[in-house]
Amino acid sequence: MKIVVLKFGGTSVGTTKKIKKVSEIISSYIRKKYKVIVVSSAMSGVTNDLVNKSKEISENFSSNEYDVLVSSGEQVSCALIAGRLKHKGIKSRSWLAWQIPIMTEGQNKNARIIKINKRKILHYLESGGIPIITGFQGIDFDQRITTIGRGGSDASAIMLAKFFNAEKCIIYTDVEGIYTTDPNKLRKAKKIKVISYEEMLEMASLGAKVMQPVSIQDARLNRIDIEVRSSYVNRSGTLITKKKNIKNNKIITGITSTQNDAKVSLIGVKDKPGVAASIFKPLSKNLINVDMVVQNISANGKETDLTFTIKNEDLNRTKKIIKSNIAINFRKMIFDKNVSKISIIGVGMVTTPGVTYRMFQTLADKKINIQVISTSEIKISVLINKKDIKKALSALHKEFNLDK
Ligand code: ADP
Ligand code: ASP
Ligand code: MG
Repeated sequence: MKIVVLKFGGTSVGTTKKIKKVSEIISSYIRKKYKVIVVSSAMSGVTNDLVNKSKEISENFSSNEYDVLVSSGEQVSCALIAGRLKHKGIKSRSWLAWQIPIMTEGQNKNARIIKINKRKILHYLESGGIPIITGFQGIDFDQRITTIGRGGSDASAIMLAKFFNAEKCIIYTDVEGIYTTDPNKLRKAKKIKVISYEEMLEMASLGAKVMQPVSIQDARLNRIDIEVRSSYVNRSGTLITKKKNIKNNKIITGITSTQNDAKVSLIGVKDKPGVAASIFKPLSKNLINVDMVVQNISANGKETDLTFTIKNEDLNRTKKIIKSNIAINFRKMIFDKNVSKISIIGVGMVTTPGVTYRMFQTLADKKINIQVISTSEIKISVLINKKDIKKALSALHKEFNLDK
C-alpha cells in the first residue's frame, strides 16, 4: 500500500474556507492513487482559548482535565474536514485518538506516543476510506485522554508515518518550508531546500516554532523524511532528512530567537561546593527547566553571582521556590523579562574556526550587549536585550551570507 501522511496545522484549517482548500489538497493525493492518512490540528486560536479558560477556572487546573479540555479543538477540525470530503463524494470519517487508539506514556500535557494500533485504520484504508485523525491527542494505559505538548500534531503525524510505514510525511503549514530564520520576523529570510534532523532539532528547540522539537527527535530516531510545505501555494518546500543526504556549503544554516525567556540573577551567593546544586535541585523537582547558566568567578573567594534563564511562565514559581529555599544564602535576587536568546545553528561550524568571534564582533559592531552565552557543537546562543532582536537577526543573517 502506498501511504502518505498529510498533516495540516492550525492556520491551514483556521476557517471553513481554508478547510475547503485543504480538502482539495487531500483529493489531489487520492487522484495520485495514494492511501491518505490525514492528521489535523485545531483551528488556529482554539487551543490557546481553551488553555486560557483552564487558567480562569483555576491556577492549578487538574492536568487530566487540561488534556481533555485542550485536545477538544482537534475533534472540531477533523469533523469539518471529514464532512467536507463526504460532501465531495469521498469516503471519509474522523478518528479521535482514543478510537484507534494512539497510546501514550508519561506526564499529562507532555506525554509521548509509544504505540499506534493499526488494525482499524488499515481496515478503513483498505475499504477506500480517508481517515482524518486528531493530532495532539493520545490515551494512556488508564484510558485517560492525554496531550503530547504544544504543537504536538507534528509528532502525531511523524508517529503515524512510522507505524504505517508511509512513503511520505508532509507537514502543511502557513509558510513555504523551513527558512533561514522566521520569515515573519525577517523579510530577507530564505527557504532552505534540505536540512538535517540535527540542525532542525536545534532550530526547533531554540525558537523556530515551525516544527515541534519532539517531533524531530521522533523523526530522527525512526529515520522518517519530512517534507514541510505551504497549504496556500503549491511550491516545493523543505526536506528534513539525515545528514548523509545533504551537501551543504554554508557555515550557518539558520538563526533563531526566543520571546519568552526570563533572566534571574542571584547576587552575593556563598561560593562553596554544592551551592549551585542546592539552587537548581528544587527547580528541577518542580519541572522548571533552567536553560542558560553563568557564574562569575568570585573576586574575594567568598561570594559569587549566579545568573540563569528560565521560561517567562515559570518566573513566579521560581521566585517563590528560591525565596523559600533555606539551603542557600544570597544578598539580592534580580529578574529581567526583557531578554531574548538569539542562536546561530549549523553543522558547518564544527569544521570552521572563528564562528564565535564573527558572531560576537557582528553584535559588537551594532552595539548590542551580550549578557549570557551558551554553546554546543552546532550552535551558539547569546542572551541579549529584547529590543535588539531585530537588529541582531538582520546583522547576523547578513554576516553569515544567509541573505543570498
Ligand atoms: P502550524 O499551525 O501549521 O503548526 P506553526 O504556527 O506552528 O504552524 O508554525 C509556523 C510558523 O513558524 C510560521 O508562521 C513562522 O512564523 C514560524 N517560524 C519560526 N521560525 C521559522 C523558520 N525558521 N522557518 C519557517 N517558519 C518559522
Ligand atoms: N492544537 C495544538 C496546539 O495548538 C497542537 C498543534 O497545533 O499541533 O498546540
Ligand atoms: Mg505547529
